[in-house]
Amino acid sequence: MFLTGTQLKEVFLKAKKQRFGIIASNVVFDTQVRALIQGYAAVNSDGLMQMSTGACKYAAGTSQDLHIGAKMISAMVKIFSAQFPKCGIGLHIDHATPNYFDFIKFCIENDLVSSVMIDASAEKLEDNIRITKEVVELAHKYNILVEGEIGHIKGAEDEIVSEDELYTKPEEALEFVIKTNVDLFAASVGTNHGVTKGENVVLHLDLIKEIDDLLIKNGVERGLVLHGASGLTDWQQQTAIANGVVKINKDTHYQMDMASAIQEYWEKEKYAIVCPPDVDPAAYIPNKSKFDPRKWLIKGEEKMQNTVMEFCKMSGSANNSILL
Ligand SMILES: [Zn+2]
Repeated sequence: MFLTGTQLKEVFLKAKKQRFGIIASNVVFDTQVRALIQGYAAVNSDGLMQMSTGACKYAAGTSQDLHIGAKMISAMVKIFSAQFPKCGIGLHIDHATPNYFDFIKFCIENDLVSSVMIDASAEKLEDNIRITKEVVELAHKYNILVEGEIGHIKGAEDEIVSEDELYTKPEEALEFVIKTNVDLFAASVGTNHGVTKGENVVLHLDLIKEIDDLLIKNGVERGLVLHGASGLTDWQQQTAIANGVVKINKDTHYQMDMASAIQEYWEKEKYAIVCPPDVDPAAYIPNKSKFDPRKWLIKGEEKMQNTVMEFCKMSGSANNSILL
């Protein structure tokens, strides 16, 4: 079933207490929504769908109207997840920068989401705090959770970055959490997307613990979030969870699943839609039973479903739904 913000809060509190991680999965299409929700439900896990502003624009078609896109994705997630009463599914806005403030407001006021991320990490810390606080004040009126972030470097194309810029400073994390009152905090520990190309980027899993310990010591314990986690090993993710991470973002892995499963199908079934070189095109009849989109999209869907089931077992969220 679809989770309200209040229920999602309960999910993250349980995850933090028992030290397991909730897999947050980016979606655009109905095939992905089906695959993921079925996967979460199959292992009795709660889960979170995420829509980026780009995904919302894409979902709206040529109008690029992200309000339409968000309504569509939200409706899909709500309607589909209603089939699974023992599996809680939330919907989150991923990486909305400050220029999308009105969009965040629209999604909150129209009851489309359970949580939102305001990513003002490209701003100076004081501006990030001011903007994030504004989103928190609005969202909390509707019991919607807010994820904030500090520590991202500016510009993904920067060739040279200093270590200090890459990693979240624990004291800044503490200041940010106290001043903004965010529910979830994205720590920058070396996994940033757009930055992960650097072989000199080292994962600082101990930094997660340092931040978590500092927040707890100051009476402001929060769930920490790991971004750009598609390429990480099980051990790295499990260590991050043990150190305080409750939300693990996944996008790229599913994209690869979908592409590879469908590529495999078409490599085998090419001549169902392409005339073989030794056949007269006038005599060629394409094979409807093979090119029906339901026959090949399902391959990607099945692979994604299996992947999210494995993710939930790895992160410990399997058999831990608050609705069981
Ligand atoms: Zn991210």
